[in-house]
Amino acid sequence: MSKLANKVALVTGGSRGIGAAIAKRLAADGASVAITYAKDANAASAVVKAIEGSGGKALAIQADAADTKAINGAVEKTVATLGRLDVLVNNAGTAIPKLFVETTLEEMDQMININFRGILIATQAALKNMNDGGRIIMIGSCVGEKNMTPGLAAYGATKGAVKMFTQGLSREVGSRGITVNNVQPGPIDTDLNPAAGDWAAPQIANTALKRYGTSDEVAALVSFVASPESSYITGANLTVDGGTNA
Ligand code: NDP
Repeated sequence: MSKLANKVALVTGGSRGIGAAIAKRLAADGASVAITYAKDANAASAVVKAIEGSGGKALAIQADAADTKAINGAVEKTVATLGRLDVLVNNAGTAIPKLFVETTLEEMDQMININFRGILIATQAALKNMNDGGRIIMIGSCVGEKNMTPGLAAYGATKGAVKMFTQGLSREVGSRGITVNNVQPGPIDTDLNPAAGDWAAPQIANTALKRYGTSDEVAALVSFVASPESSYITGANLTVDGGTNA
């Protein structure tokens, strides 16, 4: 039997990049999957169709991670439509790479609201609906632990906050068998951080493997953390970064 059979997962920002790969992988593992997106309804619908085409069950919900009401609504709709909630993947996030002195207040707010505030709201809403034995999985970043790249100071700080939230929350929900873990990608080839982009060369130089990673390589770790096999792992920061932080 598939390892996530009869489970329901919600992946925020699941229409493109790492989130889309996670949604497809969890569905391939047997879960029914809801994804949220902010703007690109066509991309979200393509993910749903791909999952359905492989025999899975999926649902796309427009919900900006900076909008409290929309996030709470997405959790409610997931439970109402798919029947329960077992796995939350807090993936929606954004980076605005530029030197901190040049970063505007609006850009700071955007990164804080999407990368951190949105996670707090989604996690609280999910916990009120989640079954015992559930999984809360953050997509943080390797720069939340060690930041060697100029231009990512504020972004890295939001991911550091995600790391500490993960560790603290794990101690509050463990008695319900719910685990809370933080998957920290390194440079992954997506629209947000293209392997052919201006910022790519120093990131590749910082890896031990001398290459970008793929969204599927992140999804493979998320799949393990979402599964029953990871039952004794909680409060952990699990880095999938090609050795960037080695
Ligand atoms: P992409 O920009 O490629 O994809 C982002 C996804 O999130 C899209 O589905 C997008 O949907 C959605 N999204 C963006 N803003 C919002 C929002 N406000 N509310 C809801 N959904 C939103 O990013 P990645 O796949 O590269 O990144 C995913 C996560 O991984 C982020 O948290 C990022 O910080 C983290 N990460 C990425 C790394 C990388 O190298 N790529 C490295 C380390 C961490 P839509 O198009 O509709 O807006």
